[in-house]
Amino acid sequence: MKKVPVLIVGSGPVGLGLAADLGWRGIECLLVEQNDGTITHPRATSVNSRSMEFCRRWGIAEKVREAGTPPDYPATIVYCTTLQGKEIARLERKAQGGRAVLPHTPEPIQRCNQIWFDPILRELALSFPTISLRYRTKFEDYETKSDSVVCTIRNLETDEVETIEAQYLVACCGGGSVVPKRVAGRLKGVSVLSYHLNIFMKIPLLWEHHDKGKAGFYYFVDVEANHPNLVELDGREFWRLAFNNETKRLTKDDIDIDAGVKKFLGPDIDYQVLSVTPWTCRGLVAEKWSEGPVFIAGDSAHQHGPTGGFGMNTGMADATNLSWKLAAMVQGWGGPNLLPSYDIERQPVAKVSVDEATDNMISNRFDFVDENDLRRVDEDGPEADAIRKDFAEKLLAKKSKQFLSEGIALGYRYDNSPVTVSDGTPEPEGSISKYFQNARPGSRAPHAMMADGRSTIDLFGRGFVLLRFRGAKDETLAKAAAQRGVPFETVDIDDEKIADLYAGRLVLVRPDGHVSWRSDTAPTDALAVIDQVRGA
Ligand SMILES: Cc1cc2nc3c(=O)[nH]c(=O)nc-3n(C[C@H](O)[C@H](O)[C@H](O)COP(=O)(O)OP(=O)(O)OC[C@H]3O[C@@H](n4cnc5c(N)ncnc54)[C@H](O)[C@@H]3O)c2cc1C
Repeated sequence: MKKVPVLIVGSGPVGLGLAADLGWRGIECLLVEQNDGTITHPRATSVNSRSMEFCRRWGIAEKVREAGTPPDYPATIVYCTTLQGKEIARLERKAQGGRAVLPHTPEPIQRCNQIWFDPILRELALSFPTISLRYRTKFEDYETKSDSVVCTIRNLETDEVETIEAQYLVACCGGGSVVPKRVAGRLKGVSVLSYHLNIFMKIPLLWEHHDKGKAGFYYFVDVEANHPNLVELDGREFWRLAFNNETKRLTKDDIDIDAGVKKFLGPDIDYQVLSVTPWTCRGLVAEKWSEGPVFIAGDSAHQHGPTGGFGMNTGMADATNLSWKLAAMVQGWGGPNLLPSYDIERQPVAKVSVDEATDNMISNRFDFVDENDLRRVDEDGPEADAIRKDFAEKLLAKKSKQFLSEGIALGYRYDNSPVTVSDGTPEPEGSISKYFQNARPGSRAPHAMMADGRSTIDLFGRGFVLLRFRGAKDETLAKAAAQRGVPFETVDIDDEKIADLYAGRLVLVRPDGHVSWRSDTAPTDALAVIDQVRGA
């Protein structure tokens, strides 16, 4: 029987991200995927700042930027009746895309669809000698033993069945497979929010055929058609037109694509349909994310509406949370509380983003506006102008958080984790849209540019890092870490602004870039601190 430390099911972005991070840490793992690796339909486009920071750590941020929407293509949101009709509202997002210089992250959000993003992750994962990926291989079943998981996989080309013994099994296989069902049972939340039909199209230079300008999203306000929308995928020629229905499952036969293109895009648009995919929008989170050595991550653990772009990004953060903990266990320095902290830390974070995506999806029905007014938005004259003005104000008040959500991307915290040592300071400020950097234990360690041109976040990743500010001299944590075999580095930062930002003379940052412990003085029991943060 083949033995492997980690078996991952599913090579979507989360399985690939997890494999890449494990490979980056030198951990052996086998990834099995039932498909052949071809992506025929575009799903996630928005790679948020935190996911971009992971890409930066892995050395692929530049590739993602180059593969996605060009830096000069605006990420604007336009609400209108049709591309040829009336404009209602517009939200600019100048800080998104390209190389915008931001105070809180070195990596602005990028638009890079999974069509291009997943292959970059795959190339990265497979660049590590410890990672193998088997396509056309279906994960079928597993049995948990005292110190391993015995897994059955089937080669779909030969029908051959093989048994693999893994120390840890991670299901990154969406909601449909046997593992999430056995670990989590039924996911909790809204199982059907709405039904959709996505049409992936090629339309070169679409912006030359209307007066709304280049934008990332166009939302069409049309009560009869349930408000379709159009999404830019590469800033050049690829687009996704989506039709929606709250109650009826949509199929190809329900939508006259040509009539839809003529009505919402324009009568003389030359387009080519590349694929058509129906999908169901859900808002679900698993209550339980692990059972012994078996874990679920990504869409297996949470299913978001696409409104906000949280699904894949939440999954990428699951992967980087779990990866260093698995590595710690395989390398022998993780304690028994480390892996259980995965559920405790990630489940509440996913719940917040799922609820947010659900709220955003519901408000896409525009039921915060009188339906009679909605029906008049395409009319001419002063009354209709007043309706549009009022609608625009309500739209921007209600919908801005869907498109400006740095609080979700970077502000999630692991406050009540057994592997975070609280310093008793009050909760930091923040909201869905607003993120204020802070180094309170549990938070993402802040970004600041250092004198050598690197970001502080470039210091984190491989092991624990103790940042020492304002001449702090502690050596006890390093000694305790060495005693326990914990990878550990000490970095002195002589910069008053960064010291203010971190607000503690000693700040211990764990391998996923979250603060574990912070103090102005050396710990009275350094071994106890190291034991807590390594889950002992
Ligand atoms: C229209 C749309 C737009 C979206 N936009 C965004 C966005 O902008 N930003 C964002 O963050 N998210 C977005 N999402 C969500 C995002 O696409 C998903 O959250 C993401 O793909 C989930 O990744 P995953 O790796 O968990 O699962 P998946 O991508 O679903 O991958 C699971 C893989 O597991 C494989 N698998 C399943 N069962 C087995 C088995 N038994 N054996 C072997 N392999 C198996 C499947 O074949 C599949 O390849 C969007 C989704 C949709 C539908």
